[in-house]
Amino acid sequence: MIKENLALCQQRLKIAAAQAGRLGEEITVVAVIKAVPISLVYEAIDAGIGHLGENRVQEALLRYESLNAYAHKSGQRLSWHMVGHLQTNKVKEAVKIFDLIHSVDSIDVAVEIDKQAARLHKIQNVLIQVNTSYEAAKFGFTLETVEEAVKEISVFKNTHMKGLMTIAPLVDNLEEARIFFRRLKELKDKINQSGNSPLTILSMGMTDDFEVAVEEGANMVRIGRGLFAGL
Ligand SMILES: *Cc1c(COP(=O)(O)O)cnc(C)c1O
Repeated sequence: MIKENLALCQQRLKIAAAQAGRLGEEITVVAVIKAVPISLVYEAIDAGIGHLGENRVQEALLRYESLNAYAHKSGQRLSWHMVGHLQTNKVKEAVKIFDLIHSVDSIDVAVEIDKQAARLHKIQNVLIQVNTSYEAAKFGFTLETVEEAVKEISVFKNTHMKGLMTIAPLVDNLEEARIFFRRLKELKDKINQSGNSPLTILSMGMTDDFEVAVEEGANMVRIGRGLFAGL
């Protein structure tokens, strides 16, 4: 049952948050629903999940209306998160539906987001994705290029940078993931020392590593398998 899985995740979150002197409630859980049957997503909404994450725009569009309508029946409003790599030609549709785009990984995509948001008279909330591990297969700005990117994007009129996102590498020992989360937190602190509109969101941590991420300062975690696997 999703309800039990969610309770388990929240318990784990609470313990990790306490380690860092914080409260579990300060951490937003984004349920990543990629490839999850819609009946299970309904169940997640019933369990109180209000933040849904998708990694493909097309998949999100397919279920956007029905899931919103379902949540609406119980007086909930869903918040939609784009967590996967966004191709420039998908930005137009993405800006229509996503409340937060976690995966701004190039200036080009940011420019397109700003353009499409302006067309819709929308301010698009985004996070800047950082490749904290320098893995060739990962998207995101490097630690060396991110500050310049933040500076450039900060003048965009229809784009609001809310924070940073990273995906840690797969590791054998969870402790090995800690450094990547720590890097993102330090980067945010550094940017906030100079910027005038502070970044507040740190989106880091998934099913296998969210406790370490929370200990290192995550206030948004993206959980898929921890909620849906095996159901
Ligand atoms: C799939 C995915 C997640 C969730 O991963 P789990 O290991 O299933 O919790 C989180 N973030 C991104 C970017 C993803 O693509």
